[in-house]
Amino acid sequence: MGIQVKLLPFCHNILYLCKFNRFAQHFNLKSQIPNSETVQEKYIDETKQGEAFAIAEKTGNSKKLFLESYGCQMNFSDSEIVASILNDQGYNTTLKVEEADLILLNTCSIREKAEQTVRMRLAQFKNLKKERPNMTVGVLGCMAERLKTKFLEEEQLVDLVVGPDAYRDLPNLLKETEDGRDAINVILSKEETYADINPVRLGGNGVTAFVTITRGCDNMCTFCVVPFTRGRERSRDPHSILEECRSLWESGYKEITLLGQNVDSYLWYGGGPKKDFAKASEMQKATAVDFSKLLDSVAKAVPQMRIRFSTSNPQDMSLDVFRTMAKHDNICNYCHLPVQSGSNRMLEAMNRQHTREEYLELIRKAKEIVPDISFSQDMIIGFCNETEEDHQDTLSLMREVEYDYGYMFSYSERPGTPAHKKMEDNIPADVKQRRLAEVIALQGELSRKRMQGYVGRVHSVLIEGISKKNKNQWKGRNSQNAVCVFDMLEGQKLGDIVDVFVFDNTQGTLLGETVK
Ligand code: SAM
Repeated sequence: MGIQVKLLPFCHNILYLCKFNRFAQHFNLKSQIPNSETVQEKYIDETKQGEAFAIAEKTGNSKKLFLESYGCQMNFSDSEIVASILNDQGYNTTLKVEEADLILLNTCSIREKAEQTVRMRLAQFKNLKKERPNMTVGVLGCMAERLKTKFLEEEQLVDLVVGPDAYRDLPNLLKETEDGRDAINVILSKEETYADINPVRLGGNGVTAFVTITRGCDNMCTFCVVPFTRGRERSRDPHSILEECRSLWESGYKEITLLGQNVDSYLWYGGGPKKDFAKASEMQKATAVDFSKLLDSVAKAVPQMRIRFSTSNPQDMSLDVFRTMAKHDNICNYCHLPVQSGSNRMLEAMNRQHTREEYLELIRKAKEIVPDISFSQDMIIGFCNETEEDHQDTLSLMREVEYDYGYMFSYSERPGTPAHKKMEDNIPADVKQRRLAEVIALQGELSRKRMQGYVGRVHSVLIEGISKKNKNQWKGRNSQNAVCVFDMLEGQKLGDIVDVFVFDNTQGTLLGETVK
């Protein structure tokens, strides 16, 4: 069992958080997060890439762990599991890389740039390793899984390579490295959900937390490396999810995000990969829990907790999820629904399993069921054979949906994916760049318009931190996930949910004042 450390950075001085390395500047200039006051909810927050976190020291622990995370929110959440496992093995986290006994990089493979960033970081550790030969350097996560032994051979200073399903094996692997041997475990599991490990909350605000509900992905989108690096899709026992949610509420958390590569695909029938559901007994099938049922149970179990979920995939999203959202006031009216392209030709090439029309119909029905709902998107620009017409389809779909914001990426070919094997990455870089700039510009217009729509109304806002631009202002989000800043009033504190009248907006931020 892991330990749980409460992190309430503003109320209690037990969190030491620093942006150790701001790789964001060169991490991926091709993506954009329009919200100017970003909050931790983003499932890929480029500003957090390469961030190192430390938590309060556990007495008796003498070894130092430096843990840096890259990539999606799943990786940041996995780092909390790793920290919990290693906390029980005598390691306290540190922000000083030069004093670390163990350096771990939790890595991402989603785009080539993400891998280059990690390689650059590893190169920086080379001198340090010369000075401190006993220090162990390990690579965790998707790059570890993708490159396996190559990592030990190519990056000469790496001693330890651990895939996303092998973190429980870390204590044994570390014994190997202590004995001077390289250690590797990249076995993907069909069962592992780390359900019983209580993650330590690294670098949070003590108010919002992520609760992992699924691991892996079965969707096989042709561009995506995730099924190969994170394995088959499996769901976590709902009892352990509800337990974690209740425990978070008792620890003072006010908002949770149910997390997975594809949360709508959640299916608990007693454990095991989703693909084996067909082989389950009649009893298992009859008592199975899908995502809408899980969402309903979570909303009831923690009735005052705000609830969000991420990420959804349109092919797995059901209207029951939106009906559950409409039923419970504590489920936020927001859905991140990546579409990747507005062109049917591209959707088919990407193996997205739905058409543009089906996606738009899903959005139309969702808006009927949850009238105040907001949507955000992921788009891949310049996928194999994308024509100007396909690109125009993406722009027109964006106009139809009117997303609040989005994450937009140039297509990056990933080794081993179906697209890499069977298609040509044939859109010239300058064309990708130009189309991406057009998509980003349009999203900017749409974001501004959507933010304007929130002006002149009172919004329920959870106070999540202090505004980056003005230390006398709070920042938080409304139900639709729009970031709102407003002057602090006496008596208000982090974690309060307050009524805020929004009187103005920028492209990504609402400007408001507390309703007295
Ligand atoms: N559930 C999401 C979905 O519906 O596709 C998957 C989340 S994926 C881990 C995060 C995002 O990274 C994707 O939505 C996609 O926009 C982007 N992405 C994945 N593979 C990519 C690639 N090869 N090149 C560029 N962007 C990519």
